[in-house]
Amino acid sequence: MLKPNENYLKLKESYLFYSISQKVAAYLANNPGEKLYRLGIGDVSLPLCPAVIAALHEAVEDQAKKETFHGYMPECGAPFLREAIAAHYGKRGVELSSDEVYVSSGASDELGDILDLFDRQSSALIMEPAYPAYVDANVMAGRRIVHYPSGVENGFLPAPSPAAEADLIYICSPNNPTGSADDRAGLKAWVDFANERGAVILFDAAYEAFIEDENVPHSIYEIPGAKTCAIEICSLSKTAGFTGTRLGYTVIPKELMRRGMRFGSMWVRNRTTKTNGVSYIIQKGGAAVFTEEGQKQIKENIAVYKKNAAVLTETLDKLGLWYCGGRNAPYIFLKCPDERNSWSFFDMLLHRAQIIATPGVGFGKCGEGFCRLSTFGSPEDTVEAAKRLTEVFG
Ligand code: PLP
Repeated sequence: MLKPNENYLKLKESYLFYSISQKVAAYLANNPGEKLYRLGIGDVSLPLCPAVIAALHEAVEDQAKKETFHGYMPECGAPFLREAIAAHYGKRGVELSSDEVYVSSGASDELGDILDLFDRQSSALIMEPAYPAYVDANVMAGRRIVHYPSGVENGFLPAPSPAAEADLIYICSPNNPTGSADDRAGLKAWVDFANERGAVILFDAAYEAFIEDENVPHSIYEIPGAKTCAIEICSLSKTAGFTGTRLGYTVIPKELMRRGMRFGSMWVRNRTTKTNGVSYIIQKGGAAVFTEEGQKQIKENIAVYKKNAAVLTETLDKLGLWYCGGRNAPYIFLKCPDERNSWSFFDMLLHRAQIIATPGVGFGKCGEGFCRLSTFGSPEDTVEAAKRLTEVFG
């Protein structure tokens, strides 16, 4: 009889969002009609910007005419979009050729699929607390996970050490859930560590558009030496509101190879086997993000989330509560006051302030005692939530 992939038996049940929804439903059953302030969401709330909408409409019209109709798209991405992304990197001083850029349907898809490039016996270093998909995708493939905890003592930005020995190194900067963002020196240490050992960094840049500080790189390739040790996975989800539209990109430099095998060439082979590309319409919408007009408009949306972040962090500062993030990232990782654990603080916020947060323990053991606040909600709700935080903790 066929043997299923028994690695799935090793996956831990993810109770996080299920438990949140159960607690919220129970609260609403006892308090019908009560308004809740949802600072737990990881999804955006603003619509796509006008430049993207116009490009999507035009692309739909193209598909209606014989002369402009597109069938299958190139598996690694349309040249017009690969070139636009490479040029965008160029503006930041990172020289890439368009065939080092691979268009995807989003970072989640890529974070799972890219693992095809590495031996299943290889190990994966996950800095925790972490985006849960990193662990689960590697457990499914049967890889050994090296859990690498971080905390208040290092601002949730762990440095390399002998305990970080692994073949694959996940770095998410700016980070979900902690909102921390590594600076040049911090990333250089990881790049050197990976190059010395022949490890490969999987750099998740899903939140790069939120970076404000000059010394925080948007791309790992701003660090000398990164092209020989890193793959960068990025997404338009949070950058431009594409969570439901789906578009991302992955960069694999030509220099990146191990044991004589070039990962870029392997990825071309993988993509031409496993996908038929991203739809023409969506890629046209995505290309509009990289125009001057698109860049201006997405920054206006991001500014709204940043204003939310400022409202929350100013409130937490006044209340004297410890947190990290909220400056180069759309998340704030708040230390639960009075030594409460994550779930007890979640309950308190829900019952006393009608605020929904995300318990930090859902992102790994060392997230215990923290809650994640998201800045993706509406400005009105964020202002009201901040007022309620002051009422409860002031
Ligand atoms: N990486 C991180 C750290 C995320 O937080 C998310 C989504 O929340 C993703 C990747 C997935 O992004 P996408 O919508 O492109 O699949």
